[in-house]
Amino acid sequence: MATKTDAKVVIVGAGCFGLSTAFHLLRRGFTSVTILDRSPILPAPDAASTDINKIVRSSYADKFYTKLALDAIAEWKNTDEWKDTYRESGVVVIGSGSVSYADKAYENDVSFGSRIDSLDTSEAIRSCFPSDVKTAAFEGMSGYLNRDGGWAFAAQGVRLLQSKVESLGGKVLPAKPVSNLIQKDGKTCGVQVRRRLFV
Ligand SMILES: Cc1cc2nc3c(=O)[nH]c(=O)nc-3n(C[C@H](O)[C@H](O)[C@H](O)COP(=O)(O)OP(=O)(O)OC[C@H]3O[C@@H](n4cnc5c(N)ncnc54)[C@H](O)[C@@H]3O)c2cc1C
Repeated sequence: MATKTDAKVVIVGAGCFGLSTAFHLLRRGFTSVTILDRSPILPAPDAASTDINKIVRSSYADKFYTKLALDAIAEWKNTDEWKDTYRESGVVVIGSGSVSYADKAYENDVSFGSRIDSLDTSEAIRSCFPSDVKTAAFEGMSGYLNRDGGWAFAAQGVRLLQSKVESLGGKVLPAKPVSNLIQKDGKTCGVQVRRRLFV
């Protein structure tokens, strides 16, 4: 049975997962979406999503992730929505040993048609970095450069997402540390905020 769009939705945590869940529910017509975060400041300074940079790559050993990341990269490129949050610097993927993560990721990136340069020597890997940047020697390693990837100014992305959630009518409440889930008949029907009930 589909959940009614006037159902009260409570999401715990205003990191990229909580905000993104709220964003998509609101866009699908949900009218009561509240996000609770324990941090008094948002984005929370100690959240994994709050960062200067996070790598944005499609180079995963699992095809599902590769496809998901490619969809995300296409969305990141929408600068009307996400400004300059995504920077397409390219991503270097390297590995060593017989069958490595890098080999599987390479197969997936090739199968999805990413723009790839093979890096067969340590010199080739080194050449991907600016000359004044110190790197490891990459002895005995090989890999590839995937030009369809880069990094995101993650904290900016989260701030933008929060403002979109709020402009769609979502409530984002700081300083609400959730301590328990409230359950009735085996189903979660609310959450307990420290010293306060939110149902
Ligand atoms: C060191 C590091 C490097 C990473 N590098 C990359 C990378 O390069 N590329 C990449 O794609 N991914 C990377 N990741 C993974 C990525 O950062 C996470 O998958 C993603 O940020 C998780 O988002 P989240 O919303 O689940 O968690 P978070 O961003 O941590 O958000 C969780 C939120 O929940 C709140 N919260 C927690 N407990 C409670 C509670 N009890 N009550 C209320 N609120 C609560 C917190 O305050 C926080 O705001 C990295 C992760 C780490 C740790």
